[in-house]
Amino acid sequence: MSDTRETELLASVPDGLFIGGEWRPASDGGTLDVHDPSTGAVIRQIADATVDDGRAAMDAAADAFPAWAATPARERAELLRRAFDLLQQRKEDFALLMTLEMGKPLAEARGEVGYGGEFLRWFSEETAHLTGRYGPNPEGTGRMIVTQHPVGPCYLITPWNFPLAMATRKIAPAVAAGCTVVVKPAALTPLTTLFFAKLLQDAGLPAGVVNVVTTHASGPVSEAIIGDSRLRKLSFTGSTPVGQALLKQAAQGVLRTSMELGGNAPFVVFDDADLDQAVAGALAAKFRNIGQACTAANRFIVHSSVADEFARRVTERVQAFATGRGTEEGVTIGPLIDDRAVAKASELVNEAVERGATLRTGGSAIDRPGTFFEATVLSDVQPGSDILREEIFGPVLAIVPFDTEDEAVRIANDTEYGLVSYVYTKDLARGQRMIERLETGMMGLNVGIVSNAAAPFGGWKLSGLGREGGAEGIHEYLQTKYTLTANPFG
Ligand code: NAP
Repeated sequence: MSDTRETELLASVPDGLFIGGEWRPASDGGTLDVHDPSTGAVIRQIADATVDDGRAAMDAAADAFPAWAATPARERAELLRRAFDLLQQRKEDFALLMTLEMGKPLAEARGEVGYGGEFLRWFSEETAHLTGRYGPNPEGTGRMIVTQHPVGPCYLITPWNFPLAMATRKIAPAVAAGCTVVVKPAALTPLTTLFFAKLLQDAGLPAGVVNVVTTHASGPVSEAIIGDSRLRKLSFTGSTPVGQALLKQAAQGVLRTSMELGGNAPFVVFDDADLDQAVAGALAAKFRNIGQACTAANRFIVHSSVADEFARRVTERVQAFATGRGTEEGVTIGPLIDDRAVAKASELVNEAVERGATLRTGGSAIDRPGTFFEATVLSDVQPGSDILREEIFGPVLAIVPFDTEDEAVRIANDTEYGLVSYVYTKDLARGQRMIERLETGMMGLNVGIVSNAAAPFGGWKLSGLGREGGAEGIHEYLQTKYTLTANPFG
């Protein structure tokens, strides 16, 4: 990867706020530094929005709403389709940009462009297929009409771990439904969203339909936007504590909300599982995105008769991982996002080992520039260890043995989260029992990755509210109107 290409790409990313179809500096001229987590270097300075800028973005979204809501669905669909096509053309640039600001290996960044792009295509198809209902009421005295309407201006808050896909998963259904939006990416990875706003502009996005504010002051800026009586919907992806705080703010305006929050995914391996398949699934479910995914397997619950062999095989594979800057050929483990993430991984590993877990490999921060942590495997993790309760968000694979199916179910459900679960077994009836017994919004049966634009992504319990993607995704941005008319025949 040439430095010139990185420099040119970074220079081509807009550095302003995108409000009402224009790029502008922050109202107080403030700027925000964006870092490369693999070196710690500042790679770009961008506008740091103030509360006033947040309000201006809200004004733009509210002003643009009536016209956009009235735009024919086919027109909205075609805009999204053009955006999808442009994204394919710019795939390499988006992938490199995500690697630079977030650290994920380039191959995974390319995968995210593919996944993120699918939301544009999926919702461009969905919007033209929305229908209403018309029919007699049961008494025959009238006609019932049911229609769907865009909810109104929306505020979309996205996290740093999937800078493109988390944005398109919200922007595409909102825009498809006829809503206008203000998007606020995480301050750690704002460049991808700015670059994507430019792509939308190039695709012919009308002014004010999508507005982007980047800020280090996410609390105050968000509070002003959420408190605006014109806002009708809040969609958030991030941690459960921040989601809970935002739900309280959203209560004031009785906002529609979608909450994609934290996870603590169990990965259950039964004694009859195909172990090679389970190991491959485990590595994907754990180490994708350097373990920094809400869907990352957090607890490997493995039958005691195969636990040792499973640990041996994953350890062998993990020891062959190449760690380094995501742009380097062959690298599978990039840096964690920041120092706090490294400190958290260290603490969780140390606490588990103090309680009796066996450290099979890794376990420490790596002494080099950037925020790297060794890919780690722990076996015999003891009940009560913090690592079983908390979302690790790092490259640490923790194994807990079990003996009976009931015990596996009890351990798997012993969490306040319920985003995704993975189960490996060749026994069909057992697989079906697990589908029915696990408290989870999503499940992978003999697969380690479940994300798909056509699927309803979302969690149970403290993992969230609502669904993104699938047939459900667009309804998060629509509201229903029922009209009764008199029987036209008297
Ligand atoms: P986070 O700290 O909750 O931040 C998420 C977003 O909220 C960022 O844009 C952040 O901006 C913003 N934010 C933080 N405090 C805020 C406040 N007081 N008011 C308004 N906005 C605020 O989470 P994260 O560390 O970025 O992301 C990791 C978490 O996201 C994990 O728990 C993961 O499981 C979850 N996640 C869930 C899904 C899902 O689909 N369920 C997908 C991906 C990630 P700043 O950082 O700039 O302050």
